[in-house]
Amino acid sequence: VTVTRPLPQPDQETEVFWEAAKQGKLMIQHCEACNRSQFYPRYFCTECAGDVQWIEASGRGTVYTYSIVRQNGTPPFDALVPYVLAMIDLPEGVRMMGNVVGVPVEAVAVGLPVLVDFVRETDDVWLPMWRPDPGAEATP
Ligand SMILES: [Zn+2]
Repeated sequence: VTVTRPLPQPDQETEVFWEAAKQGKLMIQHCEACNRSQFYPRYFCTECAGDVQWIEASGRGTVYTYSIVRQNGTPPFDALVPYVLAMIDLPEGVRMMGNVVGVPVEAVAVGLPVLVDFVRETDDVWLPMWRPDPGAEATP
């Protein structure tokens, strides 16, 4: 039996994000009233309760902090160790949790520039993963 990772179940608040993810687009919400962006998705701006619009993020980010997971007894994560769980700061002003992949875990560091890359889990779910950005310089 192959155990897949638990997948998000898009709902009314998040379906725009997951639909765009299938097209390789990273979407966040922006409030024009207070010129502020937010993530995760919510119906209203968490600062001023104003309306929010969806905007496409650049897909760039920087590792704010991270943890190397070396033990996880729960399938399918037991087969993935070691892996990196990180908090990624986007230049648009939001922070996302995600995995940094495509590089040895020892190469991940605070300030590492990363690019989003969507990985297909099912026809309906593409998960945002983060890979080192070869074109950027680290900003510690
Ligand atoms: Zn606002």
